[in-house]
Amino acid sequence: MKPSALLLRINKAHYPVSVLGYGRRIGIWFQGCDIRCKGCVSRDTWAHDGGALMRVADLLGWCRQKAAAGVDGVTFSGGEPFDQPQALAALVDGLDRWRKRAGLTLDLLCYSGYPLKTLKARHAALLQKLDAVIPEPYVANLPQGKRWRGSSNQPLAPLSPLGRARYGDHVDVSSDAKSMQIAVEDGRIWMIGIPARGDMAALENLCAARGLRLEQVSWRR
Ligand code: SF4
Repeated sequence: MKPSALLLRINKAHYPVSVLGYGRRIGIWFQGCDIRCKGCVSRDTWAHDGGALMRVADLLGWCRQKAAAGVDGVTFSGGEPFDQPQALAALVDGLDRWRKRAGLTLDLLCYSGYPLKTLKARHAALLQKLDAVIPEPYVANLPQGKRWRGSSNQPLAPLSPLGRARYGDHVDVSSDAKSMQIAVEDGRIWMIGIPARGDMAALENLCAARGLRLEQVSWRR
């Protein structure tokens, strides 16, 4: 199968994203994750038959279209991006070719619940085209992580000169205030970003106090 004909199962794609990496970004959330961290706020991404199938070529076209308004990078999250390695590799290849051809300074940042050692052993070629990764599962009983991370076991690993330039200063910097973005699309409310501990419960309590019950939330499925 030609790489451009590959299908990717995604939970959602959104632009602009400003809370998961450097600058103004495209966010692509993969569908499917077997790691199942306790306390994961994205349980809607777990089922491997959820979300929607999309051709990698179509997703690349969508990214190019969004980039017309200005884009600094693309963040892959999930779900577990490396559980769809062929589609992830095709998407990263396509974005890498495009940024080189168009002369764009666009970084590629990928979250994963796998340890960096595992990713290096299984996906060395793919890592060569990424600029940074945030690996390791979320661990709810560890302290809150540093910037762009959920728990303190999760490193931020720059992998390229661009990754080091944009993320090197953030590797060991203590967490600043957690930021969340809210988007309303297709009749659903999307909360994007890494919440501070207890934020989701506090939100539910505040809503309940005003007579609004939150149902089908991604952190409680
Ligand atoms: S935090 Fe990430 S790796 Fe862990 S269960 Fe949720 S989606 Fe999977």
